[in-house]
Amino acid sequence: MSNKSAVITTPDPRLRKKSAKVRATDEDVPKIIKEMIESCIAWENEHEFELSAAMAAPQLGYNKRIIVVREDMGNKDNATFVALLNPEIIKTEGKTLYDYEGCLSVPTIYGKVPRPAKARIKAMLEDGSEVRIKADGFLARTLLHEIDHLNGILFIDHIKGERDAFYQLDDKGDLIPLDYDKNIKDNKDLWPED
Ligand SMILES: [Zn+2]
Repeated sequence: MSNKSAVITTPDPRLRKKSAKVRATDEDVPKIIKEMIESCIAWENEHEFELSAAMAAPQLGYNKRIIVVREDMGNKDNATFVALLNPEIIKTEGKTLYDYEGCLSVPTIYGKVPRPAKARIKAMLEDGSEVRIKADGFLARTLLHEIDHLNGILFIDHIKGERDAFYQLDDKGDLIPLDYDKNIKDNKDLWPED
């Protein structure tokens, strides 16, 4: 099966809810994880220039604390994902770094988002065992982005009001700045509550 990815997008209110903790023994958890990984791959097949680095369950409309993260972020040919249940930030460290982020649930828009350089994460694997991850670079950024999803937070929230932080992909796959006043400021898909 490779149907169209069922990723939900802004302004769907399920993206703005706090998700509930899961148990590794919950009956629906393996099914949700499978669906998440399949959706990552389906989405990527629809987007020539982009790679699905990770996904959070609310992006498929499940408000449960599950994320999947790609094992090798730099390789579109390796579609192996690791599932993390109830991931928690133990601490963040290091300088604040700015880098580009996109989100399957915020179509066509990219942002230059500030994040701490390093993060320590605790989570559960599918078999119920505990893992601790010391992440930096793109992995730290990705994990923080996905854990935000479980709390109803999107990357755009970190750069709201920043006139020079929003970008889009052009038809060659390059990021070009978006006009804040025209495309972002009063965009009801992004900020339905304003
Ligand atoms: Zn996202």
